[in-house]
Amino acid sequence: MSLDTSRSHDLFQRARQFMPGGVNSPVRAFKSVGGEPFFAQRAEGAYLYDVDGNRYIDYVGSWGPMIAGHAHPSVIEAVQKTLVDGLSFGVPNALEVAMGERLAELMPSMPMQRMVNSGTEATLSAIRLARGATGRTLIVKFEGCYHGHGDSFLVKAGSGALTFGQPNSPGVPAPLADLTLTLPYNDFDAATTLFDAHGGEIAGLIIEPIAGNMNCILPKDGYLQHLRELCTKHGALLIFDEVMTGFRVSRGGAQQRYGITPDITTLGKIIGGGMPVGAYGGREDLMRQIAPDGPIYQAGTLSGNPVAMAAGLATLALLDEPGFYERLEQNTNRLCDGLETAARDAGVAVTTNRSCAMFGLFFTDKKVESFADATACDINAFNRFFHGMLQRGVYLAPSAYEAGFLSSAMSESDIDATIEAARGAFRDAFAD
Ligand SMILES: *Cc1c(COP(=O)(O)O)cnc(C)c1O
Repeated sequence: MSLDTSRSHDLFQRARQFMPGGVNSPVRAFKSVGGEPFFAQRAEGAYLYDVDGNRYIDYVGSWGPMIAGHAHPSVIEAVQKTLVDGLSFGVPNALEVAMGERLAELMPSMPMQRMVNSGTEATLSAIRLARGATGRTLIVKFEGCYHGHGDSFLVKAGSGALTFGQPNSPGVPAPLADLTLTLPYNDFDAATTLFDAHGGEIAGLIIEPIAGNMNCILPKDGYLQHLRELCTKHGALLIFDEVMTGFRVSRGGAQQRYGITPDITTLGKIIGGGMPVGAYGGREDLMRQIAPDGPIYQAGTLSGNPVAMAAGLATLALLDEPGFYERLEQNTNRLCDGLETAARDAGVAVTTNRSCAMFGLFFTDKKVESFADATACDINAFNRFFHGMLQRGVYLAPSAYEAGFLSSAMSESDIDATIEAARGAFRDAFAD
């Protein structure tokens, strides 16, 4: 059994001549799972359709934005209605105001915000704000957390627990990487020790409150509260990067789910409904320091783009449907429980982590709570499983280190079809 993907193959050959890896963002190239990516023709609801006419149940959802499913009629309609009046104005528009009010309502910790064009731009702006507002230079991040491709985030831990960071990519200056300290996720003591040593120099600590870029890892009980207390005690700003978790794990994001108030929040993905959008925001006394109210500079030619705002607002409106998150959570549980059962029946060691509309599947029999745990899983098993699922019309993220996403367009029968596919994929992947 093998899908016909000849048109995708031809496009990929052409793409490789013009784009590094044939793609405009690395993970799309399928390098870690092997093989070649398929090219999308269109998408609707729970499904992606490729240029060869194959249909896939999609658990990537454009890497997060499509919580309401692809091409949702009300989102498409909002975009169509908006775009006939012009694509960009370069002066303020009413949709930006509506977006600001909506975000402040959904996330009370960010009564003021600034719209930008990507998650990367949001996190870069957030750490500039943290540094500008505190007059300090150090940033703390976590091993395995991803905050976009900004220089200050492409940093790995130095050799000792308390050493300064090292560049994770050529092109990141070592003196800049020095200003980013890296902690192991979910390690209470390491955070305490680091703040005891450097607390007075730390401008901000940035974290994915539920980590979704090292597969899916949940914070231990009390961990986010611990970080909140450390930041408060040492005068550092707590930055929740909710680019992924914002409106995916609850109507008010991870901060609502865990009852923690960050100083600054970054958003993206869902708030653009599939258009390129990001945002950062926080307390008024902080946000008033951004230009032109204050001296900290940040700007964007296309920021607050009307078509993007329309797509985002229409998507955010769908979150108010009664039972929206309950249904997502039930479906995620149905999926994860089903995958665990299918694996057990096939004699394969698998565990899952989940939070509302995101989940992680790990080829291990241990609980996964850190980057080290995630990297200890059987990656080759995942890669075989990935291809087995793809052949059966289920598209999982093409890397063992990415979370899976559900959308409200998925039905119980989509979930059950996925579990059925997994039964076959587990069997094939582990037949010797
Ligand atoms: C996707 C992501 C980003 C980067 O967003 P882009 O729009 O890809 O620049 C930042 N932080 C988190 C947590 C993300 O998941």
